[in-house]
Amino acid sequence: MRLICINCPKGCELDVTVTEDRVTVAGQGCPRGEAYGVAEATNPVRMVTGLVKVAGSRRPLPVKTRRAIPKGRIAEITNLLANTTVIPPKRIGDVIIPDVCGTGVDVVATADF
Ligand code: SF4
Repeated sequence: MRLICINCPKGCELDVTVTEDRVTVAGQGCPRGEAYGVAEATNPVRMVTGLVKVAGSRRPLPVKTRRAIPKGRIAEITNLLANTTVIPPKRIGDVIIPDVCGTGVDVVATADF
């Protein structure tokens, strides 16, 4: 598979080959590209950002996962965010959903409300 490394602005084009027992990466300009290619081929992760409802307000609260979560869990988490309502006040960094969907990662507020 071909990937663009997103770890720095250089954007190296990676050629990732997956076989039964190993993953090889070519085209990287530094070791971070190899690690990125292996991770994308074996356990791709992403940060999730979104909005949750705030009780008594029409304005939502922006939130994000504190760390990247497995890519396959994104839909489950965004569905949960869409059905979550919080009670103000909230501060940046407050935990809104602990251990979201059993990932071990918290969803936190990214703004004061
Ligand atoms: S492989 Fe290294 S140099 Fe290339 S885009 Fe990724 S981080 Fe940047």
